[in-house]
Amino acid sequence: MLAKYDFIVIGGGIVGLSTAMQLQSFYKKKKILLLEKEKKLASHQTGHNSGVIHAGVYYEPGSLKAKFCKLGLEQTVEFCTKHQIPFEQCGKLIVATNQKEVARMQDLFDRCKTNGLNPAILDQKELKSIEPNVTGLAAIKVTETGIVDYISMANKMAKEFISNGGEIKLNSEIINLKEEQDYVQIQTRNKNNIKAEFLIACAGLQSDRLAKLMGLKIDFQIIPFRGDYYKLNKRHNAIVKHLIYPIPDPAYPFLGVHLTKMIDGSVTVGPNAVLNLSREGYSKINFNLKDLKQMCSFSGFWKLILRSWKPGLSEIYSSLNKNSYLKICQKYCPSLELSDLEPYRPGVRAQAVSKNGKLIHDFLVEETKRSLHVCNAPSPAATSSLPIGKYIVELVDKKLGRE
Ligand SMILES: Cc1cc2nc3c(=O)[nH]c(=O)nc-3n(C[C@H](O)[C@H](O)[C@H](O)COP(=O)(O)OP(=O)(O)OC[C@H]3O[C@@H](n4cnc5c(N)ncnc54)[C@H](O)[C@@H]3O)c2cc1C
Repeated sequence: MLAKYDFIVIGGGIVGLSTAMQLQSFYKKKKILLLEKEKKLASHQTGHNSGVIHAGVYYEPGSLKAKFCKLGLEQTVEFCTKHQIPFEQCGKLIVATNQKEVARMQDLFDRCKTNGLNPAILDQKELKSIEPNVTGLAAIKVTETGIVDYISMANKMAKEFISNGGEIKLNSEIINLKEEQDYVQIQTRNKNNIKAEFLIACAGLQSDRLAKLMGLKIDFQIIPFRGDYYKLNKRHNAIVKHLIYPIPDPAYPFLGVHLTKMIDGSVTVGPNAVLNLSREGYSKINFNLKDLKQMCSFSGFWKLILRSWKPGLSEIYSSLNKNSYLKICQKYCPSLELSDLEPYRPGVRAQAVSKNGKLIHDFLVEETKRSLHVCNAPSPAATSSLPIGKYIVELVDKKLGRE
């Protein structure tokens, strides 16, 4: 039998769940189904991240990232307060450890201000007085940054969605999509055929593939970047009071290894950013032939490698060599020793790369007549999931209103 829905949302990560929850509360009477291929929600990026509620320090002023991050922080705090999900606005210190980084601090400080934050600059003595275990020449203090467990948030969104009439099916991998004049035909691996008036894909690491299944002509590809972490031995749970971040290298897009207080009281260090040979493989030796072939046949991948091989190699080295990883951490926390670094689960980032080999920094949504595809939702998309979901609902409403 052919099941029929008004809306199908693909992807049970935090972006898909936020979208489904807000779609159902906007269109109260509509029949909405969320399909997730794994056996539990939040199995990929949403369940493998640093748990930081970002405040919007770094992002290009005027970008969707900057706008949604600021709104996302406010709305995450509101959502967690309303639903009694533990969170803490512990603040963050972006620490300069040499004169070159001190010189780069001013630009970052100005950007914080442009993005509507209230940062403060701390000198060496002030830094030492609030974080005695951290070494640095100076730091930018951002009080708004916080921590939360995004799996708890995602599960709460799922509950809200279901209690408002929504439906979730796990173990349902979409393998085919066909857009007709009045509906979209969806086929799952377990041989369910479903019809929907409108489809929204929030498929993270697979987002480009779903866009292609829908017939979209896209000129970017998702390239997976693994982030390795360690957890500090629990005797170090009070080693820092804030999140400790490096001054980012402008030549390098990711934020760098940081010390992160987690909401369960532990402290992690990480993540680095290593090209991963599998989109959904979580070990250093995993590789997936289909992912690898697709990556190697994409010109943007080779252009990216040519441009970034140097930092890329040093990330691989730190990933394979625990001593080298420790050295990165000791820049901020010299008291840490090799035996303090205990294993912790890695994450894989879904990063859209253009055919020119450039990382696409902002959120990216592609559309057909009967579908919207969230094609790039990198960090801080967990922080920003509530405004992203609202934005998608508004786009859907505009599109359907035009019919
Ligand atoms: C190492 C790391 C650290 C990060 N740290 C932070 C942080 O501290 N703060 C922050 O705000 N952000 C952080 N991020 C980013 C954040 O985690 C992601 O931006 C966010 O989780 C993206 O959510 P999503 O729903 O788009 O993707 P995902 O959580 O990956 O969900 C996509 C879902 O779609 C499903 N899916 C895919 N294809 C199909 C298909 N064919 N059929 C059915 N289902 C399908 C997948 O199984 C998956 O569950 C981090 C990310 C990583 C990897």
